[in-house]
Amino acid sequence: MSFLHTLNIAELAKKLSDGECTSVEIVTDLLASIDATDQKIGAYLTIDREDALNQARAADQARLEGNSSPMLGIPVAIKDLLNVKGQPCTCSSKILEGYVAPYDATVIKKLREAGAILLGRVNMDEFAMGSSTENAALGKTVNPWNPDHVPGGSSGGSAACVAADEAIVSLGSDTGGSIRQPAAFCGCVGLKPTYGRVSRYGLTAFASSLDQIGPLAKTVKDAALVLETISGHDSQDSSSIDQPVPSYAENLSDDFSLKGMKLGLPKEYFVDGMDPEVEQTIRTAVEHCKSLGAEIIDVSLPHSKYAIAVYYIIATAEASANLARFDGIRYGLRVDGKDPIELYGKTRAAGFGSEVKRRIILGTYVLSSGYYDAYYKRAQKVRTLIRNDFTEAFKQCDAILAPVTPTPAYKLGAKTDDPLKMYLDDILTTPVNLAGNCALSLPCGFSKSGLPIGLQIIGDSFDEETILKIAHVYEQTTDWHTQRPIHT
Ligand code: GLN
Repeated sequence: MSFLHTLNIAELAKKLSDGECTSVEIVTDLLASIDATDQKIGAYLTIDREDALNQARAADQARLEGNSSPMLGIPVAIKDLLNVKGQPCTCSSKILEGYVAPYDATVIKKLREAGAILLGRVNMDEFAMGSSTENAALGKTVNPWNPDHVPGGSSGGSAACVAADEAIVSLGSDTGGSIRQPAAFCGCVGLKPTYGRVSRYGLTAFASSLDQIGPLAKTVKDAALVLETISGHDSQDSSSIDQPVPSYAENLSDDFSLKGMKLGLPKEYFVDGMDPEVEQTIRTAVEHCKSLGAEIIDVSLPHSKYAIAVYYIIATAEASANLARFDGIRYGLRVDGKDPIELYGKTRAAGFGSEVKRRIILGTYVLSSGYYDAYYKRAQKVRTLIRNDFTEAFKQCDAILAPVTPTPAYKLGAKTDDPLKMYLDDILTTPVNLAGNCALSLPCGFSKSGLPIGLQIIGDSFDEETILKIAHVYEQTTDWHTQRPIHT
């Protein structure tokens, strides 16, 4: 094994264009790293090695023919809910075991067009429902910084593979925090784009009004590059917005100052029960931004305290409808019955895990005619108030600084018996999904026990450029992102 798997996209792109390595060498090195490490980490569900090497050969050939796209020959690990033609797409659920995707998601098509290599499928909470990847039915993933701890979720595999140098970069999806939270737990950069920025076509839907696909990366610049590769209008997704895509990566300058920036600090985000180490680390990061010239102002997001309740009504309502398609007829598992109704019931009983069933029942309940007004409709009204809070805050500041999670990664099993405890941890990430704007997480320190802590930078709708700029300046003036886990 060489050291290529430890590099980021920008470093590899330079080596590739200078002729110092080939894409085949990068893929070969990554596969060796996966062989050496993944038995401990459990990030990957499946890898088609021959296919990855073939893609790498094609990328090397394209380079010889003059292609110099910055993503050319760069391998990307894919969360197992994005359709890649010819590869499994299980959503880490028994109900989709054996299912092979017949088409490419739009983000995958865009990655292919840019010459990237689709490396393998990484683990997740079943249908993206969870915060620790412990709801995964087909694999177990641990935190590379400490294998007794969770990697976060639902994109736990996407974060763990990047943190453990088993991938250069990955794609995840964020419905209520599932990119930012595992990025924070595993010490990488994770970005949830504005709703409508990235096409959801080919993403297995959990909650369609909240889901967004985004990158998990080793650096802010890498996240910016992947974001610009996968963004843009798509006629296949009616919620995709037709807005020009900025050159996010190129626009990151090396002027390391935050002068002229107003950064908001929401008092509601320093919640009761927050780990003092997390609070202290975030406050230190805020001071650092101040020392770089930013003006820090107090802002208020008063309806954030309702975000968990609103999120778990809207997300489960949408999930109950979206998951109706898994009926034993069209996809994956089938358990026969004497008639179609019995077949549906038996298939769903055998195929879905208990968290998925809980959410389908909850979602069906809040949509039922007797309770629709009391729960679903009211939740939609409060969702508007949460969105209005952000609109008001962005009149006063350019971006908002906040923690990602109330605690660092917790021990495996710590919250599996109590789903409510697990839901409560989403308090600092779900408001952004409900409002639809963008946010990222980046490493800003460690707990005394050596677990990463993430800083959340929240931006206005379609203002990814501002949060990437702040994150890039923060990253280039600190060295948290250079630290690697010792357990791998
Ligand atoms: N943890 C949240 C949930 O369980 C968010 C999941 C997600 O963003 N996919 O629903």
